[in-house]
This record gives sequence, C-alpha cells and structure tokens, in this order.
Amino acid sequence: MEVRKLYYEDSLLREFTATVVACNPCEKGYYVNLDATAFYPEGGGQACDLGKLGDANVLDVQETGEQIAHLCDKPLAVGSTVTGIIDWERRFDLMQQHAGEHILSGLVHKKFGYHNVGFHVGKEVMEVDFDGPIPANALEELEAQANRAVWENVPIHCFVPSPEALPKVEYRTKKALPWPVRIVEIPGYDSCACCGVHTATTGQIGLIKILSCVKFHQGVRLEMVCGKRAYDYLCRIFDQNRQIAQLLSAKMPETAEAVRKTAQQLASEKIRCATFEKKLFSAIAENYKNQGNILHFAEDLTSSGVRELADAIAAVCGGTAAVFSGTDELGYAMCLICKDADVKELGTALTKAFNGRGGGKPGSFQGSLSATRQQLHKFFADAYK
Ligand SMILES: [Zn+2]
Repeated sequence: MEVRKLYYEDSLLREFTATVVACNPCEKGYYVNLDATAFYPEGGGQACDLGKLGDANVLDVQETGEQIAHLCDKPLAVGSTVTGIIDWERRFDLMQQHAGEHILSGLVHKKFGYHNVGFHVGKEVMEVDFDGPIPANALEELEAQANRAVWENVPIHCFVPSPEALPKVEYRTKKALPWPVRIVEIPGYDSCACCGVHTATTGQIGLIKILSCVKFHQGVRLEMVCGKRAYDYLCRIFDQNRQIAQLLSAKMPETAEAVRKTAQQLASEKIRCATFEKKLFSAIAENYKNQGNILHFAEDLTSSGVRELADAIAAVCGGTAAVFSGTDELGYAMCLICKDADVKELGTALTKAFNGRGGGKPGSFQGSLSATRQQLHKFFADAYK
C-alpha cells in the first residue's frame, strides 16, 4: 500500500499519528515505514525533515518506491501507533527559502526568460543559478517585486493536473516531464513543476533579500535569504552599522560618508607622516656622513621606513648601512644597503645566525629576525673586523 503523504495535504502539519508498517535494522539504525507521514523526504533540491517518531530520533528520510523510509535511532513495533513530530524550525526555514526562490525565479523567468538551473539551500544562504546575465539595476527591482508578492499574501497552490489538462498548463520546467506533474502555482508570480513543500501563503515567507549576484558559467549565481534567515541577517548587519555609527559619531544612515571621510583623513595623514619621516631620515643620515659602516637602531618604523632610512644613510656614509627597528622581545625588521658592494652574503649570515628570513638584490637585503641589540652589536663588530 502506498504511503499517504500528509506533507502534500497540509504543508503546515507539524504533528501527526500513524501506524508502523515496517521496521528493518540497518547499519545506521532502523528504517521505519509508516502508513502515513508528514516527514518530507529529501528530493527536488529540498532537504528532508528531521524530528521524532515516538521516542526515536528521525535522522534521515528518503523516498523508496511507494514507501518513505524514516531512518530512526531506535526500533518501533510494527503495528503500533506512533506520534511523529517534525523539527518545525528546520522545516519552516526550508519552506521559507524554497517559496521565496519560486517567487524570484518566476519573476526572472517572466522578465528575462531565463531558467533556474541550480538551487542549493546552504547553512547560511541559498544559492540560485540562472542561465543568463541579470544587470544590477534589475536586481533591485526584482527584489522589490518579490517582496510585494510577500505583502500581497498570495495563496501558494499545489496541484496535479489531469493528463488532458496538463498540456494547457503553463509552467517552468528544466525538461519535458511525463504525467503526473505536480504544479506549484503562485498566482501572478510563478508556475513551476516542483515536488517540494512550500509555505501555504507568500505572507509566511516574511522577507526576501538578495545578498549578491556574480557571474556563473553563462549566467549568474545569486545568493539570497528569506524569512527568519533574512531577518537574522539584517539584524546582524544593522548591529554592525550601529557600532560603526558609534565609533565614527555618525548618524546610522550616514555611516558610508563618515567612513569615506575617515579614509581620506587617513590617506592625507600617511602622506604628512611620510614627509616628516623623509626629513627625519636625512637629518639622521647627516650624522653618519663619511663614517663608513653604520649600525643604527630606530623606533617604530614600518618595513618600508626601515628601507628608506637605510637608503638615506647608505647614500652618505660611504660603507654599509644596517638599520633595525623593533625590540629585543618582539624581534626586529631590518635592512642592509651598500652603494658599491653586495650585501647578500652578510644578510644571509645575519638571518641564519638569528633565526630570521629575508632577501633582496645586489646592494640591498631586507628581512626580519629575533635577536637582542647586544647580540647584533657583537655580530657587526665581528663582521666588520
Ligand atoms: Zn518548489
């Protein structure tokens, strides 16, 4: 006897009773068949339901011919009546995503004639692939229309047309399907062949938000979220924006402008800082004029600052300039520069001696290492002997 699919009779049914018709042990537990079930089996791109059957946890649900096999972690007595409880948060979330996807795919099909060629509900977002490009300005309009469909609270109608009626029904499909075909119709928005479960009305989807659209094969891949996922996502984004507004003392709708100003200020501060550094470096270099080989410790320089200071000193000292910036505890950034000799050998010996790394070209060697100032003084005293 074929199992009664309660999920098709009422997609909002979350608890039911049924009779156990079979229970067979398997590697992962027990496969239980019922005379009726509200557990949706995996199929049509939609994940299966989870939940409880009596005391047993339902770990997986698959359609097997005329039956639906519920993988349970405990055996159930054949002939007994059990109560099934669907993990409703999971199911309702999947229905919100799926129904939202129908509306958007229906709108895209109507406007561009594209087909939905891929659909995946991930842990966080849903991916929907179309076989043609969608311009950015059209996305905004599509999202607005999709949300209008939610506000209109249109009933989602699922039916199987008779073999005679089927040819007259217009619907989206990837390929020609043999009868029976289950049609999911959202009047005014979509008509599609689909075996999944959906919210009863579009209002239950709550909210539809497109997050991104990137080129994918010949078309595009959209990331989107619906329902509670969309609400949770937007709450997180709102909280981020609230924090940014507080940090920049800006009004919430004006954070982008405040960030732009801050970035501009930072860029001009960098230029000002570089100008000061340049003056400072030539003043330091002046002290080393014609002094030969130089070992110099500087504070708080970036690695490019270390190189520029070494450059400035090497230009006037008449020997090799070795510049270090950092601390004995945290290590040093360093640069060796000589105008008329190769410093690769010296640099390699230095990094080898103090667990460092670095490289360069003839006349210049840059890197980092761990040593104390005392050790470095000794190293160069020996090296320049
Ligand atoms: Zn569907």
